[in-house]
Amino acid sequence: MSNFFNTKIEFLKGVGPMRAELLQKELNIYTYGDLIQHYPFRYLDRTQFYKIRELDESMPYVQVRGRIRGKEVLGEGRKQRLSAILVDENGDQLELVWFKGVKWMEKSLKNHTDYIVFGKPTEFNGRFNMAHPELEELAEEKQTTAFLQPVYHTTEKLKAHRIESKVISKMMEHLLKVALPQVQESLSPELIDTYKLMDKRNAYANIHFPETADKYNKAKFRLKFEELFYIQLRLLRHKVVRKADLQGQVFKSTATLTDFYKNHMTFDLTNAQKRVVKEIYGDLTAGKQMNRLLQGDVGSGKTIVAFITMLIAADNGAQSVLMAPTEILADQHYVGLKAFANSLGINLGKLTGSTKAKDRRILHEQLRSGDMKMIVGTHALLEDVVQFQNLGLCIVDEQHRFGVEQRSKLWRKNPRIIPHVLVMTATPIPRTLAMTLYGDLDVSVIDELPAGRKEIVTTHRFDSHRLRVFQFVRDQIMLGRQVYIVYPLIEESEQMENYKDLMDGYESVKRAFPEFKVSMVHGKMKAQDKDYEMQRFVRNETQIMVATTVIEVGVNVPNASVMIIESAERFGLSQLHQLRGRVGRGAEQSYCILMTGYKLSKDSKTRLETMVRTNNGFEIADIDLKLRGPGDLMGTQQSGVLDLLIADLAKDAPILQEARAAAQRILNQDPQLEQPENMNIRRHIQSLSVNTVNWSRIS
Ligand code: ADP
Ligand code: MG
Repeated sequence: MSNFFNTKIEFLKGVGPMRAELLQKELNIYTYGDLIQHYPFRYLDRTQFYKIRELDESMPYVQVRGRIRGKEVLGEGRKQRLSAILVDENGDQLELVWFKGVKWMEKSLKNHTDYIVFGKPTEFNGRFNMAHPELEELAEEKQTTAFLQPVYHTTEKLKAHRIESKVISKMMEHLLKVALPQVQESLSPELIDTYKLMDKRNAYANIHFPETADKYNKAKFRLKFEELFYIQLRLLRHKVVRKADLQGQVFKSTATLTDFYKNHMTFDLTNAQKRVVKEIYGDLTAGKQMNRLLQGDVGSGKTIVAFITMLIAADNGAQSVLMAPTEILADQHYVGLKAFANSLGINLGKLTGSTKAKDRRILHEQLRSGDMKMIVGTHALLEDVVQFQNLGLCIVDEQHRFGVEQRSKLWRKNPRIIPHVLVMTATPIPRTLAMTLYGDLDVSVIDELPAGRKEIVTTHRFDSHRLRVFQFVRDQIMLGRQVYIVYPLIEESEQMENYKDLMDGYESVKRAFPEFKVSMVHGKMKAQDKDYEMQRFVRNETQIMVATTVIEVGVNVPNASVMIIESAERFGLSQLHQLRGRVGRGAEQSYCILMTGYKLSKDSKTRLETMVRTNNGFEIADIDLKLRGPGDLMGTQQSGVLDLLIADLAKDAPILQEARAAAQRILNQDPQLEQPENMNIRRHIQSLSVNTVNWSRIS
């Protein structure tokens, strides 16, 4: 946007310094540009008038035309209210009531005068009334042009200062008057033509004050398209720039990998795993830094792909790091990979928060000297004392647990040449979200489970069926299997009281199964105790594991074949799916049983039905996105990308796809955006980077 849109909001007619400060604090509106992009979140249809006899309690807001016939103040003191009677052309009556501002209303409301009233009708004793309606004196000459009346988001604090939607609407009117002539087209003529987009000036005008339904729809489409287009353009340009600029170590040799593959691997890779290994190898030999996201549903076998990648690095004299979000996971990776590493004569270490000082010193030393080729661990790896001789590869597992800042600390541990990066996630991210969050990464997907896996059978049982469920558990354990029982906990960091469900559950499980051994793991336990309990379960010394969601991510006990989730209605869909993924990892038929009470909300029912119906993580992620909206999905909290102004990732997937394709096409033809037909786009990007407020919002 041009400089005009960087004008401070306080200079707008009707704003001034006081209101400007409030707008900044409450709504992040600093400039004209910010305000014009403060789009209405809904609209009221002010074209339709109702007769009083048509009113109905189910109507949210209605508009009625009539004449005021009498008004009086009733009650005393704080109970005082103003009551007025509105009579429409049929002679029907509607009572209007005010409990606040009684004196002022009493004075300003004109008897025997025609008004348009606007509010929510409520029925009382067979008569309709309307509390605190909006009023507009019906002056014949005044014609409202707006087809829909905008409703703007405000806050309690703004309302307390009388900056209500209506006031913002007034500001917007002033703004559009001066700003519309200044609006410059920000998309190329070719795009406007191809996608039949409304021009920007009209789009701004009609998103705020729609003239017709059709124009409103066009305006909305145009602005959504633009928003998504610029996000995609930015991400794709990052990718291009990085590919052009960032050198990467070249890892050509695969001798050890071949040895491993021929002599030490206990299974064949699935076709999907082979394809992904090829994609990764392609990156590692290209001379550019790899920046790849590896997505794969739980149990799809990402760990072995990680190890193979680490082997390639080791083969070429580089060190690698595998970082996991929890100690349990790091341990598990370590145990799983240590055997392989030993058989190949590779020095693999583990560094976590509970590594003893003495061992740490040795690890640090070996990493610095290059004696240690691979290290598995947690955040402890990020500490500054951890230095490498030649860090060539960083693998981050279950990446949604790490912030961007944290991750980049790892990259910087090789000052000479930035390490290759592989980010692995089991949270199936819907395509739309992946495109937005990771649009600048290359993406590999393992979309196939290892052969011989049986679909997990999922059922929903009510608490009243617990005895039968427990009998099933008994039968399965008698067959040699193991069982998880998971209790909800809102936040791992919360108070001890929140463990009541878990503790009660633990006691009752112990009572119900005196013949079996029971383990318990939760986030408040010391790492050693957690580890001890986990290991007992891994070694089948205990048959039942009672836990909170700490076991949600990645834990692998192939002999465990039953997952019981208590109060399943309290879990999100993706979380349920993650938990279910803890079973079905061995050859046996596995089961997931979702326990709930009888009282279930509509959304809970949808979640449970979805779990019972499908095992497909991507389908589940899509439904989760629709139910919750992107803000709540795991991994998205830290992403500013999702502060979208108008587009909605759950609903606008088709527009996103078009926008991304368009951005890709333009960059292919004109990577530097130098050609005259892309002038609008170049100018828009330049203005964004000048306007820091806007830029930080979308970057
Ligand atoms: P995730 O993708 O959830 O991290 P893991 O890497 O933990 O999955 O793998 C799950 C289980 O499947 C492990 O026990 C692993 O050894 C096994 N596995 C991985 N790949 C294969 C394969 N191609 N064939 C058979 N089993 C495999
Ligand atoms: Mg894993």
